[in-house]
Amino acid sequence: MSRIAAPTSFKPSPAQRPCMPATKEIKCESQDCELDMFENHYTYDVPDDHSVADLSCPYCGGSQLAEIEV
Ligand SMILES: [Zn+2]
Repeated sequence: MSRIAAPTSFKPSPAQRPCMPATKEIKCESQDCELDMFENHYTYDVPDDHSVADLSCPYCGGSQLAEIEV
């Protein structure tokens, strides 16, 4: 009973999407905000045109967010 069925390896076609849904580190640039940074973990369903500009700060609700390049 120890045999585990090997999952079919999921290989998306190489030409599919150049950018994988990633973990984005985002900081709030509002001077009044005490949030240093936070992480967004996206799924594969995130629209291509989604950007940090579509988000608002979970702490202050402001939109002065900047993506941190890592
Ligand atoms: Zn903020």
